[in-house]
Amino acid sequence: MIIVMKAGAAKKDRDEVLRRIRELGYKPHVIHGATRDVIGAVGDERGKAVLQSLESLHGVESVVPILQPYKLASKEVKKEASVVRISDDVVIGGEQVVIMAGPCSVENEAQIIESAEAVKKAGAHILRGGAFKPRTSPYSFQGLEEEGLKLLAKARDLTGLPFVTEVINPETAELVAGYADMLQIGARNSQNFALLKRVGQLRKPVLLKRGMSMTIQEFLMSAEYIMSEGNQAVILCERGIRTFETATRNTLELSAIPVLKGKTHLPVVVDPSHGTGDHHYVAPMCYAAVAAGADGLIVEVHPDPEHASSDGPQSLKPKKFAAMMDKLRLFAEAADRKL
Ligand code: PEP
Ligand code: MN
Repeated sequence: MIIVMKAGAAKKDRDEVLRRIRELGYKPHVIHGATRDVIGAVGDERGKAVLQSLESLHGVESVVPILQPYKLASKEVKKEASVVRISDDVVIGGEQVVIMAGPCSVENEAQIIESAEAVKKAGAHILRGGAFKPRTSPYSFQGLEEEGLKLLAKARDLTGLPFVTEVINPETAELVAGYADMLQIGARNSQNFALLKRVGQLRKPVLLKRGMSMTIQEFLMSAEYIMSEGNQAVILCERGIRTFETATRNTLELSAIPVLKGKTHLPVVVDPSHGTGDHHYVAPMCYAAVAAGADGLIVEVHPDPEHASSDGPQSLKPKKFAAMMDKLRLFAEAADRKL
């Protein structure tokens, strides 16, 4: 249910509504609007009719049901687009198209620092790099773990770029959050509800990837898991889904951008590297994603892709990445955005 407060309602009226929502066994989430606050009351769907009684409280304008199964992620609760702050100078969901770039995995100090410097020089805003890697095979490189986080922090100190890195289980979530500026939930973990709840309790923005066989509705339900724990700083990432097509690693579903934008206020970014699995196709998909309204891109860049520990075939060399960025400026401008 959404409890819409009257414009200019007093704080004590709002506090009373919050108290009553809790008393009825629901969790309140306040969303501050330009002229009025609305309060999302989420919890057991079966008994939600009792919330209608809040309509008689002082300062309440109306109590309306949220029709979608996702509540806090829904545009019904918040019409304006959400802007998520990552660092002092980077926000996702504003006028700027935000570019996250770097290697699939952190391999060693020289590799991550060379990558960070190269992507920064080309105009990227956030460094990416995996320290805990969720590999399909147990025999593949699993990442440098905490050592990788320390190297990412070093690259941040040197370049000023905030970084995003993956968190693969609830046990290490806090450790990763202690270093990272943004937590990535990978495609393979996007319905790991224990992990989603854990990152929902942390105060770090979350880059949530779409699972490889996830519908849009399931994707938004995963975002809801994070938000219902109190963390509203969620960014959705389309990274390709499994289809019958084998010419690309996945099928990058760019129509997910306008579809999601019609349903949610959360920012939407695109990962053309995992979406295609082939460096030849990355730049065209970057342009298309920005033209279709993406709020950002996450792109794999490696100084020596032929010898990368993971995802070399889809990684751009720094020179190719810089050339892509130069051309991307034109697409960003055409989409009324800045790069
Ligand atoms: C990654 O970003 O390196 C990664 C493993 O991505 P995904 O979860 O989308 O496959
Ligand atoms: Mn990768």
